[in-house]
Amino acid sequence: MTCKGICTRYKAQKPVGTGRYASGQKRCQICEIFIKWEGLWCPCCGYRLRTKPRNLKYKAKLRARVEADSQLEAVAVKAAEVEEIEVEAVVKKPTKRTKTAKAMKKVAIAPVAIKA
Ligand SMILES: [Zn+2]
Ligand SMILES: [Zn+2]
Repeated sequence: MTCKGICTRYKAQKPVGTGRYASGQKRCQICEIFIKWEGLWCPCCGYRLRTKPRNLKYKAKLRARVEADSQLEAVAVKAAEVEEIEVEAVVKKPTKRTKTAKAMKKVAIAPVAIKA
């Protein structure tokens, strides 16, 4: 199990704004390289590839990202709920609005009647 240099063909670029494991890259400990490879075994040395970070800090980061995502979902759900409530309020309002509009019309008509 040694590096044959084949892995460089699958070498993965460092992703922007996300982690290597999060973007589906795998790490070969023998070749000491991150590769874009669908299999579980290194195409170069044949060693088992890492799909998850070993470092606890990375794990915490990954978990934090997952939690942030679920929080965003919760916010989105709340926003949807608020929209529903607002829609209901809008639906209920027109009856009140028409009453006020009628009242306004009467007020507006009255002075005109006096002038005539
Ligand atoms: Zn290699
Ligand atoms: Zn390898």
